[in-house]
Amino acid sequence: MNIDGRTEIYGIIGWPLGHTRSPALHNAAFGRMGMNAAYVPMPVAPGELRAAVEGVRALGIKGLNVTVPHKVEVAQYLDRVEGVAAELGAVNVIVNRDGELVGHNTDVEGFRLSMEKSGAKVEGAEVAVLGAGGAARSVIRALIDAGAGGIHLFNRTLSKAEETADALGGADAGIDVRAFSDAEVDTTIADCSIIINATSAGLRADEEPPINPALIRRGQLVVDLIYEPWKTRLLEASETAGATTANGYGMLVFQAFEAFRLWTGHTPPLDAMWEAGLREGLNG
Ligand code: NDP
Repeated sequence: MNIDGRTEIYGIIGWPLGHTRSPALHNAAFGRMGMNAAYVPMPVAPGELRAAVEGVRALGIKGLNVTVPHKVEVAQYLDRVEGVAAELGAVNVIVNRDGELVGHNTDVEGFRLSMEKSGAKVEGAEVAVLGAGGAARSVIRALIDAGAGGIHLFNRTLSKAEETADALGGADAGIDVRAFSDAEVDTTIADCSIIINATSAGLRADEEPPINPALIRRGQLVVDLIYEPWKTRLLEASETAGATTANGYGMLVFQAFEAFRLWTGHTPPLDAMWEAGLREGLNG
């Protein structure tokens, strides 16, 4: 990478950033396309977000990804929030258009495209979504867009699942999004052809899965949004049960692909991004 006086800067803000694969994905795309641009990690502590966004304006940073814990709070410091980002109240991409900072959400489209790539049949399917945080909201929105038949929402804190179901489902959405309780897990999971883990249970390798893996059966598709570890205990047990599995790496790459298009107006090379992120995982 050749940094000079004209290099455009992009990056990711979050806390802690730890090990992120996003720089590898975007720098691979910039490199392959011969663009004079660089993407860097920018750890921003809670309490420093407003100052960081002002810094984006002052420094002329062209675009940012936003990750945990800033996706909701950041909206109030931007000039505008567009589309599904405004609807969900979650921004994962900021575009700097000549000083105007615009918030977008590419997690929704990223998840939809990753399901499409994995050949999942979402249309008409009964889907169980585990979790009721920001990622679960993006997943539910994408499932609605893809024509899922019904969405069954399960969360450790039932009231949050009920709140999310009320916010995203119902007559306006044209789909039943229903929160279900611990007592209903067994029958609900058995009735679903797709099960998606959108909780953070599994981020630590020794962590218990959010549902009893003995409930998984052959013929179901189990998706875990976690990709580090690459294969969570839930995915391992699902494979053993004969289910089809996918981790969250596809969602990561496709949200990055969509972010790149928003920032630059160009379609990045998906294969270069995909491979760079895999290599980064091996090196990290
Ligand atoms: P949030 O903090 O917004 O939500 C976390 C969710 O996980 C809540 O529903 C919480 O339940 C639940 N949870 C946390 N710990 C446990 C546990 N031990 N057992 C059961 N449930 C638990 O996080 P996000 O929604 O932003 O992220 C969720 C996951 O999705 C993370 O693992 C993240 O890495 C992944 N993700 C992956 C992406 C990708 O591109 N692949 C993109 C975005 C997220 P409660 O309400 O009870 O606290």
